[in-house]
Amino acid sequence: MPIYEYIASDPEKGCRSCRNGFELRRPADREPLEVCPLCKSPVKKVISKINTPKITKPMSVTDAKKAGFTILEKRCDGNYEKL
Ligand SMILES: [Zn+2]
Repeated sequence: MPIYEYIASDPEKGCRSCRNGFELRRPADREPLEVCPLCKSPVKKVISKINTPKITKPMSVTDAKKAGFTILEKRCDGNYEKL
């Protein structure tokens, strides 16, 4: 059974569960859940994490160097120093 993630469509009105989002195991052929089972506030389905591209963390200096980038850091005197 797939797990769906839901979150309150109006976070102001939801309960503790749906305000932060909750997961629900539900048969795929079942109609989508429209209200929170706890507080009956309208909820919307969160697009599955699997389908969302992973947020790439900012490249660190080390990673950048490994990838062949030249890191230049601006010094207070206005010059750039090659790291
Ligand atoms: Zn709720």
